[in-house]
Amino acid sequence: MCNPGRGCKPDGVTCVHLLRACAHLGALDFGERVHRYIDENGYGNAINLRNSLIAMYSKCGNLDKAFQIFQQMTERNVVTWSAMISGMAMNGNGEDAIEAFKEMQRMGVPPDEQTFTGVLSACRHGRLVDEGLRLLEHMEMEFGLQPNVYHYGCVVDVLGRAGLLDQAYKLINSMRVEPDATIWRTLLGACRIHEDFALGERIIGHLIELKAQEAGDYVLLLNIYASIGNWNKVADVRKLMKEKGIQTTPGCSTIELDHKIHELVVDDDSHPRKKEIYETLREIEQQLKIAGYVAEISSELHDMDSKNKGDALCYHSEKLAIALGVLSTPPGAAIRVANNVRICIDCHNFAKLLSSVYSRKVIIRDRNRFHHFEQGHCSCNDYW
Ligand SMILES: [Zn+2]
Ligand SMILES: [Zn+2]
Repeated sequence: MCNPGRGCKPDGVTCVHLLRACAHLGALDFGERVHRYIDENGYGNAINLRNSLIAMYSKCGNLDKAFQIFQQMTERNVVTWSAMISGMAMNGNGEDAIEAFKEMQRMGVPPDEQTFTGVLSACRHGRLVDEGLRLLEHMEMEFGLQPNVYHYGCVVDVLGRAGLLDQAYKLINSMRVEPDATIWRTLLGACRIHEDFALGERIIGHLIELKAQEAGDYVLLLNIYASIGNWNKVADVRKLMKEKGIQTTPGCSTIELDHKIHELVVDDDSHPRKKEIYETLREIEQQLKIAGYVAEISSELHDMDSKNKGDALCYHSEKLAIALGVLSTPPGAAIRVANNVRICIDCHNFAKLLSSVYSRKVIIRDRNRFHHFEQGHCSCNDYW
């Protein structure tokens, strides 16, 4: 029997699993160690390992490294191309992803569902309405692939954000697959941006039908009502949430420091270095305020139960993780954070400003995508 720690050597399959775990956690340092191990042990040429490395580096926000591996490969299969296209899409290089998609076809590699997941995500992040619609059609007509609900969801998102809410709603109703809660939520998010509460209410109806309403849906609806100043409706929704006992998902961020993953939650008070973290956070805020930072307290009602919204925003887990990063790494070092919820406007502003005031790259992977902050700018162009 294999006994860990007693000379049992991890093989290629183990490495694939390890890389998958690193990708999931955003653990770049550990992933690099696995990469070295793979090369030292001569597993490096196996195509599945190379593909896993591309996925790991992409998901840890190091797209250059992923691309380098991709370029060095003499043999590329559909998984290789899909991993590279997805990596480009999630790191904000939508145009490159679409170029790569065309290139793979020129090379005679037919795309599969996974490839379309990547290229449609690229359209989603790059606001490419026409390209998204065209690809969705080609997927079926040209390649005989049945789009799944995620594929449709990407196009619904692009349409919705572009303000084409009716077209997005029609697309959902015309799908050949059953709409799930996620796709309705995508459109609900667009209703918030465009302040369409009538459609928002209809979507809540669909979610209730699916018995899938979650706190986040009500928060979105709350935001719609709050943005149009309908405080009576806001109170109604809050009451409803209380009656139904609906609780919000706490935001949770992870950061890797010295080969160890630190997990922080909203208003964290369990971390052993909490005192230093909060001190650093306050110090950062002071610095950012000088540079013009104003907490966006009206933005997103992430934390429903908080009495004091201004405070609650200060303690979103992203900010705590960034503070821990500032505190634990040398000046100028990049800070990489992975987060389980969509980043809010306030944390986004905070990270953007910090990247210029502290001259640090900040890379945040939120629930949907990557944000590469550098010199006061984000790779998502403030669109996420
Ligand atoms: Zn936030
Ligand atoms: Zn961003």
